[in-house]
Amino acid sequence: MTSSVEDFDVVVIGGGPGGSTASTILAMQNHRVLLLDRDKFPRYQIGESLLPATVHGVCKILGLAEEIKQAGFVRKLGGTFKWGTSPEPWTFNFGTASEITAPQAYAYQVERSKFDHMLLQNAIHNGVDVREQHAVKDIIFAGGRAVAVEFLDESGNAHRANARYIIDASGNTSQIHRNVGERIYSNFFQNLALFGYYENGYRFPPPRDGNIFCAAFKDGWFWYIPLSATLTSVGAVVSKENASLLKAGHEEAMARFIASCPEISEMLANATRVTEGQYGQLRVRKDWSYSNERFWVPGLILVGDAACFIDPVFSSGVHLATYSGLLAARSINSILSDDMDETRCFEEFEKRYRREFKNFYEFLTSFYDMHQNEDSYFWNARKVLNRHESSEEAFVSLVAGVSNLKDEQLLVDSDRIERIKGELQQLQSGNHHPAPYFSNEKEAFLDTLVEEATHMQRQGHMGVIDDEEQPMFAGGLIPSADGLRWRETEPELAMA
Ligand SMILES: Cc1cc2nc3c(=O)[nH]c(=O)nc-3n(C[C@H](O)[C@H](O)[C@H](O)COP(=O)(O)OP(=O)(O)OC[C@H]3O[C@@H](n4cnc5c(N)ncnc54)[C@H](O)[C@@H]3O)c2cc1C
Repeated sequence: MTSSVEDFDVVVIGGGPGGSTASTILAMQNHRVLLLDRDKFPRYQIGESLLPATVHGVCKILGLAEEIKQAGFVRKLGGTFKWGTSPEPWTFNFGTASEITAPQAYAYQVERSKFDHMLLQNAIHNGVDVREQHAVKDIIFAGGRAVAVEFLDESGNAHRANARYIIDASGNTSQIHRNVGERIYSNFFQNLALFGYYENGYRFPPPRDGNIFCAAFKDGWFWYIPLSATLTSVGAVVSKENASLLKAGHEEAMARFIASCPEISEMLANATRVTEGQYGQLRVRKDWSYSNERFWVPGLILVGDAACFIDPVFSSGVHLATYSGLLAARSINSILSDDMDETRCFEEFEKRYRREFKNFYEFLTSFYDMHQNEDSYFWNARKVLNRHESSEEAFVSLVAGVSNLKDEQLLVDSDRIERIKGELQQLQSGNHHPAPYFSNEKEAFLDTLVEEATHMQRQGHMGVIDDEEQPMFAGGLIPSADGLRWRETEPELAMA
């Protein structure tokens, strides 16, 4: 029996990076948001290597950049790979991507229990009603729309929450995505991951000491992620044919995989495996790649792993979760606050999200061919992205999560977020003095803001091409200046 019924604008299922991001951005626009997670935070999660687009883009929009900077996470300047035909490991640096400015040419390696908890606490601070140990059991539909969720609280009592929109951010294990369509599994990426944690493993000399290291070996590949000066996350990703080996014993399987990878054996030669606490066990995850056939139905939208997942070699999971959380919240904010059309906003969401996923997917299929060297991999990235800069630059912008984001300037120009926020605060306090960022000090702030938001299109009309304010798809929408909503491009505005 249902013991309570409540009403919200939006219910978000899952408090991982996707759910926390979406709920915070919705609450920033003053919507009433309920977030339900079945776990108690801080909770363990895999996926520790982040990309610059998350750290300097989404986290900044969430108002978390400074807190994350102070958290003591290991700085990751790029990746080092023993991969393909090159006899020696090769390294890429995020600084190579033209979209990334030098001060932002890094990401972090994070303990997810800590990182996810910070994102969830931030959602609470922004006004989200977060309830832990609350598990969603069902979605209720009426008149062809998702209209409510049924959930159990920590004591097992059943409740119902009505909502104008529901976001499924419940990750890879939940079944809620079935309400939206079938999960289609990749025939190509059907792997298993076996992973654990080690103290006192080897560190590359600076500046590579914070890099993720990936090493291919005969059964698959290893990740080696420095989480602190002494703690390392180590995982073997192997094909599904190794399932019986894993069943026979995790310890034996891990020892065997390590022994068959000379680089990892050497790096762990003086290390000891952690056997207590959250890092005390060897874990296994099936990491089959998949994508849902649809990402939304009226009233219900999927973000993060609930929608799609791609092999973790380029650490794209948290990036895709936070990026899709941003896109979903932006869409719902536009529908609820600006009365924009649901189909139009959700189609924009799905197209952008699929495009980012597809780029990683297509590139990774060629990256798994070990008969190439790094130059061929870089070339493949250029081909996938259809770009004109150097192959290495194309590769780095793809694996930094910024290749598709030329019109998502807020994700690559985080200073702009601060400038816009600062101007808004000054405006609200009635104490506005235009910052040098705005060229004409005599103009009122709002005029300046509108000008800032549209001048690129005007330039476009005058024949000056600038990618920044172009829609990603013909007839599509573009982000508002603060990144929290969609807006029309200039021709549509003119017709309205
Ligand atoms: C082996 C492996 C290695 C990886 N390495 C990386 C990496 O280095 N970098 C990277 O970025 N990504 C990596 N990933 C991917 C990363 O783990 C995920 O992409 C990321 O965690 C997705 O975030 P999310 O918010 O979608 O889901 P999650 O982080 O899974 O969060 C979902 C939340 O939903 C909650 N939930 C589930 N069901 C319910 C329910 N019914 N009711 C209420 N709550 C519910 C869960 O408790 C959970 O807190 C890796 C993945 C694997 C498998």
